[in-house]
Order: sequence, then structure tokens, then C-alpha cells
Amino acid sequence: MGATGLTCRECKAPYGLEARYVCDRCFGPLEVAYDLDTTLDVDERRRRIQAGPQNIWRYSDFLPLEAPPGPSARTLSRTGLPAGCTPLIRADRLADHLGLREVWVKNDAANPTHSFKDRVVAVGAARAREMGYDVLACASTGNLANAVAAQAAALGMESYVLIPSDLEEQKVLATGVYGTNLIKVRGTYDDVNRLCTELSGERENWAFVNVNIRPYYAEGSKTLAYEIAEQLGWRVPDTIVCPIASGSLYTKIAKGFEEWLALGIAEGSAPVMHGAQALGCSPVAGAWAEGKDVCRPVKPDTIAKSLAIGNPADGPYALDLARRSGGSIASVDDEEIRAGIRLLAETTGVFTETAGGVTTATLAKLAEEGTIDPDESVVLVITGEGLKTLDAVRDTFTSFEIDARLDSFLDAVESVGAAT
Ligand SMILES: *Cc1c(COP(=O)(O)O)cnc(C)c1O
Ligand SMILES: [Zn+2]
Repeated sequence: MGATGLTCRECKAPYGLEARYVCDRCFGPLEVAYDLDTTLDVDERRRRIQAGPQNIWRYSDFLPLEAPPGPSARTLSRTGLPAGCTPLIRADRLADHLGLREVWVKNDAANPTHSFKDRVVAVGAARAREMGYDVLACASTGNLANAVAAQAAALGMESYVLIPSDLEEQKVLATGVYGTNLIKVRGTYDDVNRLCTELSGERENWAFVNVNIRPYYAEGSKTLAYEIAEQLGWRVPDTIVCPIASGSLYTKIAKGFEEWLALGIAEGSAPVMHGAQALGCSPVAGAWAEGKDVCRPVKPDTIAKSLAIGNPADGPYALDLARRSGGSIASVDDEEIRAGIRLLAETTGVFTETAGGVTTATLAKLAEEGTIDPDESVVLVITGEGLKTLDAVRDTFTSFEIDARLDSFLDAVESVGAAT
């Protein structure tokens, strides 16, 4: 494996590849460090990737695993539920609507449990297996719960999934179905996360994917960048618009592009990174607007529950990335989120959950303000599925109910002046 250890993001203290997530010296977060062989030529690297399976394990050279799972479906009990290789769709109708030239939708709802969380969980769970854990656990805003429960089922591991008790019913049902231990906590995600941090000290044989395994888990998000570059013919787009909850996805997508640019696998330059938050939970966008480099925690109140983290772990790194990439971090309110969901659906045929509404509405806002140049190539990162947050679109359109008779149809349709 190319991973050599963990490094503190603050004081750069080195650690081994252990189940550890904070620095002993300064309490900074730890990140996986690699020593990638720069002698391999670019064509050889690209050939290795293209010869790999149609999932994230084609990028195993850049992931922190000793023995990456193989491609064979027959070894499912050892390899788990593979994620990735989701469509990158050219969205010309959306681009026309926004006055832009080149817009792509990376539809990560097309994963096994319908969100990008399958990527991070696949990597976190595979690493947890290597480290000898047999229980998988998480603190979730919804989609992570789905992904952990499903991945544990595929691997034959026991799982404990802790969620805030007010989650969307669709997400609760789509978690419980996998036979996990589903625990609804009366409180916000930040309360759930605090509880899990405490629990991870108590339950030493549990791999909390986003607590004690977090450095490994977070690396899974880089595969989104690798895929975008590969799908664009080894090219890095000019601009990315990406949602922010903890800030992990946003910062890791940038890390993925930086790694491939440094190795010459992808061509171009580091993209401008725009982050998107829901106004009702916008600690990072708030800090950005005030020119601060740390976030003040907030109490979430938004329909974008999957992004409702009031105290984002990677907030300062997200702010730093927005600054050094020439990007921004914006927020949109609940009505704009609903409109964003409808805009994406009506112009691309992709139905996204509230987080995707946040991202799409943010792109629309940036295009309108002229923050995004009409000639830039833009990738909109759509992270989750609309069927999981149906309430967000309830009553946003009309329909007719008629008798099964021609006159009834004509009456109903003509009364609203619809096209005949
Ligand atoms: C978890 C999640 C995100 C963002 O996650 P980060 O914590 O910022 O990595 C974005 N969209 C959806 C749908 C999610 O479930
Ligand atoms: Zn440190």
C-alpha cells in the first residue's frame, strides 16, 4: 500500500497506521499520508486503473488498505458492497438555463444505498476488517446510517447505527431493513456524535467509521475526484460545487485532484472549490461571510438534514480550501433548496435529496452573481437521492385527478390551459 502512516494536520506529528484520529500532542485531526511511487509513468498508472474493477477499488493504489478487496462478486463476503463508478452526466439544459457553457452532474445517488456515503464506508469498513474489528458503528445524519447498515450486512459484521430521532422516515426505514441495531437519539447530530465519541472509548472492539476510523473512512471521498477526472478523459474541471456538512467530502475531493495533478495522472490545474450549505445550518458559510478562519457552532434548523452538522470537524480546513482555491462557501434557504431540487429534476432528469437541492441552488446563485465565469467547466456534485427526502417536494407541483373518460380529461386539462 502507498499509505505510510497518519500525520497530524496541525503539528505534522507522525503516527503509525492505527485506529487513532486525534493527535496526542495538539489534539489536531489525523490524516493518512502516502509515499506514492513517482517513478511509475503516467501511462502505466492509467493502465493499472483501467484494468481494475468497475468500482472504487480501481483506485486502490491511492487508498489506505493493505489488501484491497478484489473485483469478483463471488467473494462478496470478504469484499463487501462495492461503491463508485457513478455517472457523470453532461447537463446542457441546466447549463443553458444558468447561462453557462459546460456543466456536468456527478450523480452519486447512483450508489448501492443511494448516496456518496457508500464510498467512505466501503473504505472505512475494509480498513476496520484489516485491523481486526468485527462491529461496525457510526453517528449519522441519515445517509451514513444506510451505508453502514448495508455494508455491515454484506460483510457479515454486526452494526450499531446512531441517528438523531427526528430523521426522515425514508432514511430510517432504509437503514432498519438491513438488520442493524438502530438507535434513535433524542438530540441533534452533534449530540449523537458526542455520544459516539464517548462510546468509542468504552467499546474498544467497535469501529466507528466516522470516529476512531475517520482518517481511513475520509479517504474514500477522494475517489469522487478520481472518477470525475477519469470520466473527463484525465482532465480536471475548472470548478466544483460541492455540499458541506462536516467538510470532509469538500476537502477530500480537492485532495484527490491535487494528488493526481502532482503525479501527472490528471491534466489541468487545481479546481476552484465552491462549498454549499443550508442557511439553517451554515456554520462554515457564516464564518466565510465574516472572514473568519474558524466556525462558531450552531443549532441546525433546516430541511437539509443530511447536512445538519452544527459543529463541523473540518470547518477550518474547508475555509482554508475555499480561500486557496479561489472559491467560496455560500448558503441557501429552505425555499431555495426546494427550488434547487426542482431545477435539477426539470433540466436533467436527476431527482436529488435536499443536499443536492442545496448544491444546485448554490450553483444557480453563483452563476447568477457572475461568480462562475460562463466559460468555465463546472461539475455539480450530487450526493444523494430524492426518494429519501420526499417531503421536500410535497406540494411543489399540481396534478389532476379525473374519471376514466375523455371529457373528464379534456375538462381538467383545458381548464388550466395546458398544451393540447
Ligand atoms: C454526509 C453528506 C454530505 C456531506 O458530508 P461531509 O460531512 O461534509 O463529508 C453531503 N451530502 C449528503 C447527501 C450526505 O449524506
Ligand atoms: Zn498535532
